[in-house]
Amino acid sequence: MWQVIGQTKLIDSLRRSLADGRLAHAYLFVGPQHVGKMTLAITLAQALNCLAEDKPCGECPPCRRIASGKYSDVQVIGRADKPVGSRQSAVRGAGDYRLLTIDYRLSKEISIDQIREMQHNVSLKPYEGDQRLIIIDGAEHMSEEAANSLLKTLEEPPPSTTFILLAADEGSLLPTIVSRCQRLKLSPQPVGPLTQALMERWGTPSERADLLARLCHGCIGWAIRAIHNEEALAKRSEHLDSLISLSRGDVSERFAVAAQLATQFGKDRASVVERLELWLTWWQDLLLVKNGCGEFITNIDRREALQEAATQYSLSAIGGMLQSIRETTQQLEQNANPRLALEVLMLNIPLEREAIYA
Ligand SMILES: [Zn+2]
Repeated sequence: MWQVIGQTKLIDSLRRSLADGRLAHAYLFVGPQHVGKMTLAITLAQALNCLAEDKPCGECPPCRRIASGKYSDVQVIGRADKPVGSRQSAVRGAGDYRLLTIDYRLSKEISIDQIREMQHNVSLKPYEGDQRLIIIDGAEHMSEEAANSLLKTLEEPPPSTTFILLAADEGSLLPTIVSRCQRLKLSPQPVGPLTQALMERWGTPSERADLLARLCHGCIGWAIRAIHNEEALAKRSEHLDSLISLSRGDVSERFAVAAQLATQFGKDRASVVERLELWLTWWQDLLLVKNGCGEFITNIDRREALQEAATQYSLSAIGGMLQSIRETTQQLEQNANPRLALEVLMLNIPLEREAIYA
């Protein structure tokens, strides 16, 4: 069974190629983060090596070993987890003691050494079956040297080897690499099938499945991670509360938040961009509610608050705020002064009640 949700056309085409023994030498799976690129690659690896009639069965020894990353003819290359130092954190518990925590961070790029090691491996015969599969996760993060070296391998592909490159941002790949691959695009999936999958496959209660399916923007990998990560959802709730209170807050409160976010941006850009994305979902929801399309909102667990807030703003005030959030995100990406950009955004948050007359 193909574990991927949706993507039926693409799976049908892979299935046909497999049945005819006409897999391409190299594929490029493109699509946003968490959309299911790795799951599709692993499922294809299983289908290629499965011992059952209906491939992939997910149960036979090769299928199981591929799923657990122990099958030697399926190799995954990606940016490595590197320890980036350790810190002492005080932990309060039954007694006071100190805990040593090691921080891991993804290395910046896929290195030439990783590609060379792979090239050595593919020069040998497959160990277990007659096919080898090389998955390059985050292919857009290959160093220039690594990309050029991989290109040579793709130009003269070794026998019995299939390459699968996974990329969220194919624009950062060498065009010569892209042209050597068969490109398959994975699209975000609608809320309905995702909710159903979360309930049936992961046993998530219906209300929660519906919320996660909306929050993940069509990329189920995010929702699956969130099932096991209460903290992420609690943080989202906290950030929404702070957004609502800012709509009622005075200038000094708003500037304090801008300063705090600007400092945070210096340390962790992604978390601030994520916060702005969350704000965007809130104002988009307000627009939907205002237009009588409440069933399509993202923040379904805040339906009542959204309905109440929607009465406080005019359509033009909501539209203006959406525009302002998008502009701020763009400015931050273009390295504008973060404090200044965020202060302007804060001043643009329309005040409740007053805004209706704007
Ligand atoms: Zn199998």
